[in-house]
Amino acid sequence: MRIAGIVQGVGFRPFVFRLAAELGLTGWVRNSPAGVELELQGRAEQLAGFRQRLQAELPPLAVISSLEFRDLPLLHDETGFVILASSDGRREPQIAPDSALCVDCLRELSDPADRRYRHPFITCTNCGPRWTIVTGIPYDRPLTTMAAFPLCPDCEAEYRNPLDRRFHAQPIACPDCGPRLSLVPGHADPLGQAIALLQQGLIVAIKGLGGYHLAVDACNNQAVARLRQRKQRDEKPFAVMVPDLVTARLLAELEELEERLLAAPEAPVVIVRSRTATPVAELVAPDSRWIGLMLAYTPLHQLLFADTGLKALVMTSANASDEPMLSDDAEAAEQLAGIADAILTHNRVIQVRTDDSVLRVVQGRPLFYRRSRGYVPRPVPLPFDAGKILAVGAELKNTVCLTRGREAFLSQHIGDLKNEATLDTFCRTIDHLGTIMEIKPELVACDRHPDYLSTRYAEELGLPLVRVQHHHAHMASCMAENGLDGDLIGVIFDGTGLGDDGTVWGGEFLVGGYGAVERAGHLKQVRLPGGDLAAREPWRMAAAWLWEPLGDGIWQLPGMPVLAATDRQLLQAVLERGINAPLTSSMGRLFDAAAFLVGAATRNSFDGQAGMALEALAEAAAAPELLLYRLQPGTPFQLDPAPLLLGLLQRLQAGESSASLARAFHAGLAAAVVDGCDLIRQETGLDRVVLSGGVFQNRLLSELVYTFLAKSNFSVFIHRLVPPNDGGIALGQAAIAARR
Ligand code: ZN
Ligand code: ZN
Ligand code: FE
Repeated sequence: MRIAGIVQGVGFRPFVFRLAAELGLTGWVRNSPAGVELELQGRAEQLAGFRQRLQAELPPLAVISSLEFRDLPLLHDETGFVILASSDGRREPQIAPDSALCVDCLRELSDPADRRYRHPFITCTNCGPRWTIVTGIPYDRPLTTMAAFPLCPDCEAEYRNPLDRRFHAQPIACPDCGPRLSLVPGHADPLGQAIALLQQGLIVAIKGLGGYHLAVDACNNQAVARLRQRKQRDEKPFAVMVPDLVTARLLAELEELEERLLAAPEAPVVIVRSRTATPVAELVAPDSRWIGLMLAYTPLHQLLFADTGLKALVMTSANASDEPMLSDDAEAAEQLAGIADAILTHNRVIQVRTDDSVLRVVQGRPLFYRRSRGYVPRPVPLPFDAGKILAVGAELKNTVCLTRGREAFLSQHIGDLKNEATLDTFCRTIDHLGTIMEIKPELVACDRHPDYLSTRYAEELGLPLVRVQHHHAHMASCMAENGLDGDLIGVIFDGTGLGDDGTVWGGEFLVGGYGAVERAGHLKQVRLPGGDLAAREPWRMAAAWLWEPLGDGIWQLPGMPVLAATDRQLLQAVLERGINAPLTSSMGRLFDAAAFLVGAATRNSFDGQAGMALEALAEAAAAPELLLYRLQPGTPFQLDPAPLLLGLLQRLQAGESSASLARAFHAGLAAAVVDGCDLIRQETGLDRVVLSGGVFQNRLLSELVYTFLAKSNFSVFIHRLVPPNDGGIALGQAAIAARR
C-alpha cells in the first residue's frame, strides 16, 4: 500500500503498527518520499478489515490524500509486523500544521502523579508545535528547534517504543530535558509571578507557539485600557483566550459549528456573538456585539488559567500594528520593554513566526478572515497541475503561495507590506516555504501595481513574470479553491486594487476565467477626495458621492465636520476637478459613506471599521423595504449608488431607524448584484457566480447576496479554504499564472 498526504510526524506508523497487530497481520511500514509505504500479509477479511479501520480510526492530525495498493506474492517466512527505517529517494514532504494541546496531554498536565505534571511543553504525536519549529526536511528532531534539547533516557524510551503514544513525536520533552520558562525581569518562579502580575491587572508579554502575545486580564477594564494606551491601539477589537468551552459559553452565544471550530486542533480565533451580560471588559471590543474568542491551545496557556481565578485573557499579537507578530527573543525584549510590565518567555526557538488564524461562521460554514497558525502549511488542492510557481500576493494582509503540481501552499499571514520589517519576513517566508516544500519556482506571479514591494521583489527574481490584475486574482482565487474552470461571473468587492485603466477598482463585475476577464460592469466611479485620507475619514466618501446631486448641500449633512471656508472651497475644487483625487469604484469606500450617513461610524481607525459598524447595526434590524439604486446600461454597465444614498437620507429624516436603514442598504446592494448578474447572464448565458474581495467578509452582505442569487437560479460559490480578502489573493495569482 502506498499512502500520500499528511502521514509523517502525526503518529501514523504506530497507528498502523497497532492496527496490524490487533488484526493479526504480518508485514512492515515505513516512511517514504511520498508518504508512507506498507506491506501486509493475511487473510482477505483481515485485509479488508484493515483498510476499513485505517480510514475510520485515522489519527487526528493525519490526512490521506491518496491511497494505492497492489497484490504481492506470498512471503511464507514472514512473521510479525515491524516498523522499518525510512526509504530514501526524492521526497515531496508534507509537514503538519501546529496543533492545540490534545485531551491526553491535558490529562497528564493536570495529573500530579504524571512525570509531566504542569510541564509547559508537554506534547505527543497528536499535538503540539510542528510548522513553527521546522528548520529543514526531513521532519525529524535534528531539523527542528527542539534539536537543542537532547532527550533524557525516559523520553528516549518513549520516542523509540512503537506502542507508546509519543513514538517518534519529534517535539517531546519533559521537565528534565525540555525547554525552560523564564521571566524578564528575572524571578525564581516565572510562571507563578507572571500569573500574579496578570491577576493584578498588569501587562505580560507571553511567548507562545508562533510568536509573542500581549496578555492582560480581559475582565479588568482598567487593565485593558492601559494595554490600549501602551499599544496605541484605540478601537480595534482584541482577541480573547479562555481555558475551555464552558467558559466560552459564559462569554458568547455559540452555535454548534462555532463550538466545534473553537475546540478543533487548529484552535483559531472565532468571531462570535457576545452575551449581553458578559464578564469581559467593555474596552476589549468597544461598541461591538461580536468578540474574537480562542481556547488556550498550548500547555503554557492552560497553566495560566489552572486554579488562578483568571477567566479570560486578552491575547493580542505583540507587534507594531499590521506587522507580523514578534517571534525573536532579542527583538521582543527590546520592542516590548515599554509596553509589557514583564515578559514570560522560554528557550525553544520559534523558527517561523505564525499569527493566530481568524474565522467566522458565514452561511453555516467557516469563512477565513486570516488563515495562518493551525492551517499552514496544509495545501489547498488545485483543479489542475500548476507546476512550480511562486505568487507574491498584493500589499495588504500579504501572504505568498507556492505551487507543486496540484497543490498550492499558501503561507502564513505576513502582514501589510509597507516597511522593511515586514519585507524581511516576506523574503524569509518565501525562502523557508520553498525549502521545506522543496519547490524551486520556475515562474513568478505578482500584482499589476508597480509600486507594491511584492511586485518589486518579483521583478528582481529574474524569472518569467506574470502580472495579474488585482480583482482578476481575487476571482481566480475563489475559482481555484472551489475547483472551478471555464468561464463564469466574478462579483469582486473590496477596498482597493489597481485597475486595467489606471484607476482604483473595487466594485467589479468580471466575466471570464483564469486566462482573461472582461469588466462587464462596475460601481460608478467617484473621486477619492484627499487620496489616502478618504479611506480614514468616511465623511469624505459621503461628500464625494453626494457632490453631484447635492452640490453645496453636502455641508448640511448630519455629522459633517465644520471646515474653514478655504478648506471647503479646496475640497469642492477637488471634487470638481479631481486634483489629488483619483477615481475609484471601491465598494469598501461606498460602505464607509453609508456608515457615515446613518451615524454608524465617523472614522476608519483600522481597516474595515466603518463597514463592520454598519454591518453590526444592520444585524439588529428586521428586513425593511430595500433602498433603490440605479443600473446604467452600457459596456461596462454602471451601478450608481447615488439614489441609494439619497433614499437613505430621506428615510432617515422621515424618522426611520438607522439600524433599519443600514439593513436596507445591504439588501439594496444585494439586489443590485442580482440585477448586474442578470444583465450578464442575458448576454452570455453564464450562470455561475463567484464572490470574492474583502467586502465579502461582511456576513450579512454575503448571506443576502448568496440567497438572492440562488433564488434567481444562479450557482453561487464563496470562499471556504482561503480568505476573501487580500490574504487569499496569492492563490488566484498562481492559478492565473499557471494557465497563462
Ligand atoms: Zn498530546
Ligand atoms: Zn525528558
Ligand atoms: Fe483586494
